[in-house]
Amino acid sequence: MFDDDSKIDPSQGVVAYLCAEFGVDERLPIYAGGLGVLAGDHLKTASDLSLPLVAVGLLYREGYFRQTLDAAGQQHAQVDPLDPAALGLHRVCDARGQRLEVLVPMAEHALHLNVWRYDVGRVPLFLLDADHPANSEADRAVTSRLYGGGSDTRLLQEIVLGIGAVRALRALGLQPSVWHLNEGHAAFSALERIREAVQGGLSFGAARELVAARTVFTTHTPVPAGHDVFSYAQLHHWLGEYLGSLQTTERRLLGLGSDHRGGHRFNMTAFALRTSRFHNGVSRIHGGVASIAEAHIWPGTPAALNPITYVTNAVHLPTFLAPEWRERMAKALPEWTRRPLERADTEWVDALSREEFGSVRRQLKRRLLDTLRTRLQAQHARNGLDEQRTAQALSRLDQEDPLVLGFARRFATYKRATLMLSDPERLLRLLSRDDRPTLLVFAGKAHPHDKGGQELIRRLYETALQPEFIGRLLVVEGYDIAFARALVQGCDVWLNTPEFPMEASGTSGMKAAVNGGINVSILDGWWAEGCDGQNGYGLEPVGAADPVERDRAEATALLDVLEGDVQRLYFDDRADWERRSRHSMRTLIPMFGSARMLRDYMTRLYRPAAVHGRLMSERNSRSAVEFKRWKKLLETQAPGVRIDLRSRSPLEVRVDLNGLHAEDLRVEAGGVEGEQAELHLLRHDPEHADFGGVALPPQATQIRVLPSHALMANRYELGCLAVHELA
Ligand SMILES: *Cc1c(COP(=O)(O)O)cnc(C)c1O
Repeated sequence: MFDDDSKIDPSQGVVAYLCAEFGVDERLPIYAGGLGVLAGDHLKTASDLSLPLVAVGLLYREGYFRQTLDAAGQQHAQVDPLDPAALGLHRVCDARGQRLEVLVPMAEHALHLNVWRYDVGRVPLFLLDADHPANSEADRAVTSRLYGGGSDTRLLQEIVLGIGAVRALRALGLQPSVWHLNEGHAAFSALERIREAVQGGLSFGAARELVAARTVFTTHTPVPAGHDVFSYAQLHHWLGEYLGSLQTTERRLLGLGSDHRGGHRFNMTAFALRTSRFHNGVSRIHGGVASIAEAHIWPGTPAALNPITYVTNAVHLPTFLAPEWRERMAKALPEWTRRPLERADTEWVDALSREEFGSVRRQLKRRLLDTLRTRLQAQHARNGLDEQRTAQALSRLDQEDPLVLGFARRFATYKRATLMLSDPERLLRLLSRDDRPTLLVFAGKAHPHDKGGQELIRRLYETALQPEFIGRLLVVEGYDIAFARALVQGCDVWLNTPEFPMEASGTSGMKAAVNGGINVSILDGWWAEGCDGQNGYGLEPVGAADPVERDRAEATALLDVLEGDVQRLYFDDRADWERRSRHSMRTLIPMFGSARMLRDYMTRLYRPAAVHGRLMSERNSRSAVEFKRWKKLLETQAPGVRIDLRSRSPLEVRVDLNGLHAEDLRVEAGGVEGEQAELHLLRHDPEHADFGGVALPPQATQIRVLPSHALMANRYELGCLAVHELA
């Protein structure tokens, strides 16, 4: 289907996909939330499309915690050691049939790692863990919990993931043509690849060029907790000797992790950006937010022109579509899992009779309500809730066809799960009309260290047990992939209320949408791209400076929509409601099925990185050496490059090249607004040191002098040498 897949030739190497968490199956709890589920979906889709991809992650022997809520709504983290054999994991063996083990540096000693294999369809997922008999007790615990422990544990896990992944894939004989670091946790893999190239005889600088050329880095969140920062002292302590083997000064090396805040901070996102040439955010809005947040990496380049692009996230349809829909999809289009879908591929949705469409939706909801009853019964029984209140809590799950509103995701505070509680009277009015039976369901985990997130759960839980809310507002423990599936398939409405623009993408809303659920959400992340006004409701973020005022205004808008639009339509004009529900499936299945996402990664990132990597490796890496030399020259000469506007019409600028050649530069006139801005390249007049020959475009706000070289992956990656503002 990708006509020139051959450009990523498996015999030349595959795409190596590295991530700290993978949500492939609820039985393998090595994921915390959206990042992991997305990574799992990426592997499943690569398998469906037969793309050559291998993945590496960590096997957390205690997994991520299982959540229970006690009678007061306090979250408890249950830890269940996982049993690799029962989960279908196998120890990887080397060519001689010996169990493969990999060593990574750790302070004065080395850490021994087991290598496991878990097959995601055709895609192998290699999982590393430190629970190895040759390690000390403390070392064996390094990989026991996902996002567990303090900052040192996190650093050690990232050493295991980054350095360990490279060593494991090499031990398996793999030479990937592209390395995709899915979030900064895996960024040390670039360091290890640089070390390999240095050992092969390259300078540190040339090695970095070589490595970066094949590296794709995806950043996933604007939330600071998603960007690990380590101190220089930590790096010294744990990696000191290793860093010493890299043939460069420590100052230069650690500088690769410096961020805009300065100080002795090593920021993994900054490091990943400086050791990769292909970077992306995960939605249009997030791409822009990341460009601004990371603008310090490309000094002198207008933020919107930074080489950070975006690929909007998506979901694996065969995993999240209800069996009833899968069946119908497969009947209409037998090859539906093997290519990205078009709008025409969902015509079958409109072809269903009203009766059939409605009956599937009701069936999915009934299944969800039964699941909720079972789960709530167990939860309340364990917590010793009295019989009467238990009965009240479950009483409304038997209603014929209630409107079910769902909110389920990680309880990170920016997601504002309790936004609707800010006006309890109105919320109660929404939930207590007998002629419009409506249920509001919450589920989700907060990180064990996130007291704020846990407090949100507790408040919701408390509200759910109040006499006026009991049975109408439900808080259910134990969110995981299986429960997510039930919720996204059965809810009529999927709510999302992030603080704009913190929701990098969000994916649970996509899962609801493709099943016919209606999203009611702040226009942030994916929804700003998916919402067309007919397939759900988009809430404009309020631009108030005061967060309290903003929250109040957004809560009011949300309740207005739920009461005035959603409830009214659902109960008074079911035909129109169903039209929207079908429209949601028709428009959003093609846009947010993960085959589309893989195609985007393939065409915008993997293929260019493979080509770029090959160019850089040419002539035994001479290209990388020469490119590095050119960049050095540029660095010394750049401060002297000057631009001088001599005439607007005809456009003519004089550039003081300061010893550089005209071919080393490009001079362009353009705006600072990003991809849609039109650019005009000025031609060099070799007789004089002048550039010109085009009319000054009316929307141009700058004339910029940029470095130019065939081995640059992006024309803005080296920043601007000189800028003339056309005030
Ligand atoms: C899809 C999914 C998520 C991500 O939800 P968001 O809406 O992106 O926050 C988290 N956890 C599970 C179990 C999921 O299936």
